[in-house]
Amino acid sequence: MDRRNLLRAGLAAPVLATLALPEASARSRRRGPRSVIFLHPDGMGANTWMAVRLADVGPDGRLAWDRLPAVAAYVGPMIDSLTASSNGGATSHAWGVRAHSDSYGQVGGARIARALSGASDPIGPEALGAGKAVGLVNSATITEPGTGAMIADVANRRDHAAIAAQLVAAAPQVMLGGGEAHFLPAGSQGRHGAGRRTDGRNLIEEARAKGYTVVFTAQELAAIAPDTPRLLGLFAEEDCFNDGSQADMAARGVPIWQPQAPTYDVMVEAALRILIRARQGYLLVANHEATDNLGGDNNARGVIEGGIQADRAIAAARRLAERDPNLTIVVASDSDCGGLNVLADDVVAGQPVPPRNENGAPHDGADVARTPFLAAPDRAGRRLPFAVAWASEGDLSGGTIARAQGPGAVHVSGTIDSTDIYRAVHFGLFGRRI
Ligand SMILES: [Zn+2]
Repeated sequence: MDRRNLLRAGLAAPVLATLALPEASARSRRRGPRSVIFLHPDGMGANTWMAVRLADVGPDGRLAWDRLPAVAAYVGPMIDSLTASSNGGATSHAWGVRAHSDSYGQVGGARIARALSGASDPIGPEALGAGKAVGLVNSATITEPGTGAMIADVANRRDHAAIAAQLVAAAPQVMLGGGEAHFLPAGSQGRHGAGRRTDGRNLIEEARAKGYTVVFTAQELAAIAPDTPRLLGLFAEEDCFNDGSQADMAARGVPIWQPQAPTYDVMVEAALRILIRARQGYLLVANHEATDNLGGDNNARGVIEGGIQADRAIAAARRLAERDPNLTIVVASDSDCGGLNVLADDVVAGQPVPPRNENGAPHDGADVARTPFLAAPDRAGRRLPFAVAWASEGDLSGGTIARAQGPGAVHVSGTIDSTDIYRAVHFGLFGRRI
């Protein structure tokens, strides 16, 4: 009987401890439970990270994103389009197969038969089936594909009612996001708005019956017991942020971030506090939809603030990785939404930039008047101004980068495909090359 079998049999642990050589203990450390944190700050290209870097740490500073050691150019075509949709991209990440731009866990009108690993489920149920804890975090509704497609499949990506029902049936340990309306029956009133389900089901009550603690605000999330076994947080009727350009939001008198909802980084840290207690490891998938939608809205302030939240989540993941050599961190985005680019030529601090570039591209700044942003101080202590030019109101391909650290990072180098994200996550969880 070798050491592993002795351990399995629950025998001789003290004997092993006295026999253990340094390299043997390093080996057994690597045999500990494998976990993965997959952060998907959607719509962010290398160009967006430049704006976040300038705003948060300045031109000479480095973000937590910059410190992830593995880097790859990310290419993610769909079967029928050269630019990934959020649902098609999420389907490729969840199953490791190429998808259609209208796919949500399905291709050609049928549930995908096999994932790249050979499993008959996407990555969420495969991890649950192996005894790992699973957490989903989304700054939009939790049924949004960046989280929902890790578990659910539907013919119509807008079938939020069916997605919510599949999520509750699968029962991942943590779900934090928006979308209360899709958990409550029409005719009933929730904490944030009216229910919209037409099947009469109250999924919040069903979740409570399954042992979930349910919270509705950032304050309630902060007050949960540290040993909460199952947690459902529904912090908004739909998304946890508001959509629109800075001018639209000023006209409507709404803030970018809904005040009752926790921000992306706060949700990620809350989810991790529960997941790290799992004996057999965990999978956290956290999609920041705000960085994608606000890019499409051409709202530079919203994208940069959302990007800073994403970087705080990466920093939290890296703090855990310092203590856990079996933790893989993967950070990717399936598209660059809006094509935000930093503009500094002829930009003067305090002087609003004109509405458009000479080529017609819309300009944007830190406020409705298009006042330039001021970068955080450079190494000489100077705060230089920058503005933003937008390329589009939709998803674009080209500037997206995947980064990683930990065991699964072996799949993140050079130029990789969207399906390689699945490879990295799967290897991080199970240690089997596919
Ligand atoms: Zn996307």
